[in-house]
Amino acid sequence: MTTNTKAYAAHSAKSPLAPFSFTRRDPLPNDVKIDILFCGVCHSDIHTARNEWGGTTTYPCVPGHEIVGRVVAAGRDVKKFKEGDLAAVGCMVDACLECLSCEENLEQFCEDVTFTYNSPDKVSGGHTFGGYSTSIVVKEDFVLRVNKDVDLAPTAPLLCAGITTYSPLRHHKIDKGMKVGVVGLGGLGHMGVKFAHAFGAEVTLFTTSPSKAADAKRFGADEIVISKDEDAMKAQALKFDFILDTVSAKHDIDAYLETLKRDGTLCLLGAPPEPIPLGAFSIIRWRHRLTGSLIGGIRETQEMLDYCAEHGITCDIEMIRMDQINDAYERMLKSDVKYRFVIDMASLK
Ligand code: NAP
Ligand code: ZN
Repeated sequence: MTTNTKAYAAHSAKSPLAPFSFTRRDPLPNDVKIDILFCGVCHSDIHTARNEWGGTTTYPCVPGHEIVGRVVAAGRDVKKFKEGDLAAVGCMVDACLECLSCEENLEQFCEDVTFTYNSPDKVSGGHTFGGYSTSIVVKEDFVLRVNKDVDLAPTAPLLCAGITTYSPLRHHKIDKGMKVGVVGLGGLGHMGVKFAHAFGAEVTLFTTSPSKAADAKRFGADEIVISKDEDAMKAQALKFDFILDTVSAKHDIDAYLETLKRDGTLCLLGAPPEPIPLGAFSIIRWRHRLTGSLIGGIRETQEMLDYCAEHGITCDIEMIRMDQINDAYERMLKSDVKYRFVIDMASLK
């Protein structure tokens, strides 16, 4: 039953991703084996492949945590899935399921969480390999159901970009009439705009790319502010209840904190490798809050997938072949992405 899995891996921080193959474990009684059809390309894949987060990457590194596919085998104790079902896997593949965070369906905060790639693999040893591969074996509890009527490729990025923006907007109770800012229109940002709009907020996109304005409006933004325009930024002072910051590189968060109303909140989602400078008065003067958010739990991820299926929300994607991944990374680093690359895994089979 053990099969060779074809993949693409980074072998060092400086080398491009290249073909690689390895063996997935046979499904245990609670495991589901999935033939991967599509995998989204998250900026975290680039940070990890290039070892940008403080030397935390183990090589070879097979990134990918926006996975949609079809079940090809299910262990004997699996209840939710059978062969032939559609299924999805996001950023986590295991957790202790006993701690306080797990009990509250917040497995992402479990101290023992196993991320989909670059995490110690407690079952098979070594470290986990992600979705830039032809198949994956995952404990049933971490596999999501996919509605049979949705488009599969644009569903894949919901597994990270979708839940990472949905979760903080829900947690902070974003609702009709609130004024929400989204910083950066990439994979996360475009989903942030769509969800904030769907929840009834008045949405402003802050972008460095004037050419993205028309798309932002189509996604539900009411206003666009070009963040390089200092006067336009100053004109936003004290306007926002909540801001989602999705920027992947070093930037000036003081400029965004100053656009919050009294008691407004800026939530960091982006994870630039360098520390982010913070001016004390940006939070003292108007009792502003600075917080962050990490993906979302499994229950909430399923809720988000079901919400998207019901409301017709998907990602805007550009499909690529596996062998185009290194070019896709270069384009993302230039903010040239509309608005998520998705790998057609058939190109690797
Ligand atoms: P992405 O698709 O590459 O989008 C990032 C966007 O940020 C760009 O399209 C650009 O938007 C803007 N940007 C890039 N460089 C900039 C700069 N120097 N100054 C200002 N704006 C800049 O990336 P993504 O996949 O959405 O991921 C975004 C970040 O979130 C990454 O750091 C990623 O690791 C992190 N992340 C965090 C979580 C979490 O759980 N918190 C989950 C997934 C990803 P404009 O062209 O509109 O300016
Ligand atoms: Zn991601």
